[in-house]
Amino acid sequence: MSTIPNYVMQAAALPTHLCDKLDKINRDFLWGSTSEKRRLHLVGWSKIIRLKEEGGLGIQAAKFKNLALLAKLNWRLNQEKESLWAKVILKKYCSTDRMRAKDPDKLPCSPNWRAIKARFQTFADGICWGVGNGERINLWSDSWIRGCSLRELIEGPLTQREIDMKLSELFLDSEQGWKWEALSFELPVSIKDRIKAIPRQLVGRGEDVIMWKRSKDGEFTTNSAYAWLNGSQQEEVNFQGQWIWKIDILPKIINFLWLCMHNSLPVRSVLAMRGMTRESCCLLCNNSSETISHLLKVCVAAKDFWFKLKIPHEMKWHGV
Ligand SMILES: [Zn+2]
Repeated sequence: MSTIPNYVMQAAALPTHLCDKLDKINRDFLWGSTSEKRRLHLVGWSKIIRLKEEGGLGIQAAKFKNLALLAKLNWRLNQEKESLWAKVILKKYCSTDRMRAKDPDKLPCSPNWRAIKARFQTFADGICWGVGNGERINLWSDSWIRGCSLRELIEGPLTQREIDMKLSELFLDSEQGWKWEALSFELPVSIKDRIKAIPRQLVGRGEDVIMWKRSKDGEFTTNSAYAWLNGSQQEEVNFQGQWIWKIDILPKIINFLWLCMHNSLPVRSVLAMRGMTRESCCLLCNNSSETISHLLKVCVAAKDFWFKLKIPHEMKWHGV
């Protein structure tokens, strides 16, 4: 169900309140809440939207999904420059007249172009450059030194001309050397060495290529973009229950195990921790606090149950 809005999301920037509403629909569906009846949401939304390997359910938050899909649109616009749709967009909205307009942001445009522009920065933050002829690469702001920009490596004031410089202006015409004197100041030796270590893909003649920093092969994938955008908002993940997704068993039992791994079954100790009850003693033995671990394996009633099931001795608990 969470994938239904994808079609709209891939070409339009949804407002935040709409993304929040979509997330709420997913949350309510997951826990069975309705407008008449609120049900207990046992696991926090920020955990649910993680990848399954990181303890989530693989449900994607609308805001990050929208950002990832629009980063993809920017990626495609860059990679498919010769396709008809890209030609139309570029001709219509990137013309010289439009660029020179007093306030280009106020000119009328389609929702698609608005979405591409609004999420350009996400795309720009996720890419790095493979150096070719250096004509598309901004010397200071683009990431071309092993995923870093020159601006990230060095501070200090720049002239407007330097801010606008393309990397190609730093190339010597004939060979692979560098024209350091094109800059108004001397770069530190350590940075020069990093730059010298970059192989130019086609000896300064081929086109510069963009690469997606978040995937191993440099190709854009929506999932890698989503994981990056979502991951940057979260604390460190330490989920020990990846095994639950590998066992061949009914989904509702996997769901039960997932709740156990998050210490989120509504047992008395969990409810007490959330301030929903003051009584946390086990009802079956009246002897100990009713934790998940107690109820499922330590309590005399649980032990008796497992004994009667005749579980083979070699089967072990997986940290539940
Ligand atoms: Zn007990």
